[in-house]
Amino acid sequence: MVDIKSVHKSFGSVEVLRGIDLEVRAGEVTVVLGPSGSGKSTLLRTINHLEKVDSGWISVDGQLVGYRRSGDKLYELREREILKQRTHIGFVFQNFHLFPHLTVLENIVEAPLSALKRPRAEVVDSARKLLDRVGLADKADAYPRQLSGGQQQRVAIARALALEPKLLLFDEPTSALDPELVGEVLDVIRDLAHQGTTMIVVTHEIGFAREVADTVVFMDEGRIVERGAPGDVLDAPREDRTRAFLSKVL
Ligand code: ATP
Ligand code: MG
Repeated sequence: MVDIKSVHKSFGSVEVLRGIDLEVRAGEVTVVLGPSGSGKSTLLRTINHLEKVDSGWISVDGQLVGYRRSGDKLYELREREILKQRTHIGFVFQNFHLFPHLTVLENIVEAPLSALKRPRAEVVDSARKLLDRVGLADKADAYPRQLSGGQQQRVAIARALALEPKLLLFDEPTSALDPELVGEVLDVIRDLAHQGTTMIVVTHEIGFAREVADTVVFMDEGRIVERGAPGDVLDAPREDRTRAFLSKVL
């Protein structure tokens, strides 16, 4: 489903991704761990072309991300084609990024209406189903500021799902939340995992990783240092750097 090959990315003279290779199979959950500054967010952002790679390539569901291949050359897609590609790749941010001036329901229907141009009645109907799925059926007409952080994040997840993405990316979805609100968001992500949603989740929630991940990846200094089943990487890491990191977060 996701294929990442030799991806390099620098900001100025700082190389932030130093040759990333990663595959994610359809229906699987990959949890990415790593210290601050190791390149986790940058990696997620390259997967939907919010950041351009300097070299290497990424494909999602058989489509090259951000580029078209012609012979042995790659040509960047036009903005419109990039936006279209992005509709298949949902992104959930640490700080929710809801539109503050729109109700919960309007937040969810905005993209399917404008990007997919589906009929409004149909879109509203599926948005209500999604709200029900994340346990917020009664909040359709509320504004984001009237919701708790956990509720806002569940709306953000419903909004991402409204485009029926093939892949969902989560960048520390619970790290802006008060501790007592983390569980309700992780529950929603866990449900998605059980329904076979393909996901890449950057998180420091080790318990969640152990329970839900098919694969755990540990990144440090722009490289994947270790990857494997959660039981291996979390309980019997091979690399000193993984061990040192885990001893700090566990
Ligand atoms: P954290 O756990 O703190 O979120 P991270 O693993 O997500 O860290 P990134 O946000 O990917 O790390 O950042 C990796 C490095 O790239 C950092 O040194 C950061 O300062 C740098 N960086 C990220 N985005 C930019 C940018 N747009 N311009 C310049 N430098 C950047
Ligand atoms: Mg980050």
